[in-house]
Amino acid sequence: MKFPDVFLISIDCLRPDHVGAFNRLSRLTPNLDRIISRGTVFTQAMSHAPFTTPAVTSMLAGRYPFQTGVRLLLGQLCDNNLGTIAEAARLAGYATAGFPSSFILNSPTGLSSGFDEYRDIEDGNLTNRGGCWQYGDPLNQSLDAFLTRAGKDPVFSWLHYFDLHEYHQDQSAPAHTTYARDLHQRVDAGCIASLFRILESHDRLDRSAFIFTADHGECLFQHGVRGHGQHLYNSVLHVPLAIVWPGEMQAGRYRHDLARHVDLLPTLLDLWNIESIERFDGLPGRSLLQVEDAGSASTTSYAEASPRQLFDGNASEVRRFEGAEIQSLQNTNHKLIQTQRGERELFDLRVDPGECRNLLGSDDGTAESIANRLSCELDALSESEQGGYASSSDAPPESKLVRERLRDLGYV
Ligand SMILES: [Zn+2]
Repeated sequence: MKFPDVFLISIDCLRPDHVGAFNRLSRLTPNLDRIISRGTVFTQAMSHAPFTTPAVTSMLAGRYPFQTGVRLLLGQLCDNNLGTIAEAARLAGYATAGFPSSFILNSPTGLSSGFDEYRDIEDGNLTNRGGCWQYGDPLNQSLDAFLTRAGKDPVFSWLHYFDLHEYHQDQSAPAHTTYARDLHQRVDAGCIASLFRILESHDRLDRSAFIFTADHGECLFQHGVRGHGQHLYNSVLHVPLAIVWPGEMQAGRYRHDLARHVDLLPTLLDLWNIESIERFDGLPGRSLLQVEDAGSASTTSYAEASPRQLFDGNASEVRRFEGAEIQSLQNTNHKLIQTQRGERELFDLRVDPGECRNLLGSDDGTAESIANRLSCELDALSESEQGGYASSSDAPPESKLVRERLRDLGYV
């Protein structure tokens, strides 16, 4: 077989600092760490939205939310011709299967495009809290059945585990405790260990390629809030990313250049030797097979959030974003956050990774000029496509049922 089997594993709201491969002080994820040690770790990986659907869509379609048209928790790819990772996998000759675990990622989003099999989450089907999402076990069982059907064919599978979200519902202990416990027990010793047992039983564990990441991070009271979706600080945009690819990605290597979810599709096109075709034209990402100088500020990562359904947090630190569309652009050195109303914040990520000290408003002309430059880049980026700030308000309002389900997910 020319290419290895590929498993794209995304874990909802997983913070990199809780994964041992990213933080040696963490002992929560031995199963994940063992496989990640076979590949390359990207310490500066970024998501493009602070909540699931737009973040996952940008990851799979290789384009920013204003380019995919999926900017809210419920959305649909704006163009059926946008290429996705699954379509690239199919072109490369793989049997493809997608296993989302929440109804917000079901096939009406358009994310099923390119998958031979796509397992929608239906009401009442082994779900938690009224059909919102499904635990990893039934996903893994479906993967097991898919691998059996695939026989010896090369496979590409995407699995999105939602199990860590459960900690939102547990008020019995502080959030730090329930988050760490659920990561260790439900995710690492649960979904991930079970996934690896299944792959081993199909003799597909040792020679496979893996991409591990999260759709977005999670605030455990950074900036005074818990959860995700209230702002664009890196506590929700910084994600774990590791690529295990025998013969292509160096084992045990740590890379500190900026890596983005939009880079995954170009990277896979590169790894699969897929020549440029129309539906993959104009992708904003770059292949991660090329290493960029970690000090280079030329690569930027964009993110956005809409206030449409979130921002009900009462933390005073994020109330200033309430009601405004917000966008951010960062390079390895600096990050600009700006709102539709014109408010701006600039952070020096080299000395202030926690984004606690806004450099603007301190009579520092240098900060002002850096912010202006990033702001120009940001405007040029979003104006080059349809949309910009306005289009997220074009989406229809959610139904009462959907609002209830979103509330069960911990969102509204
Ligand atoms: Zn999510």
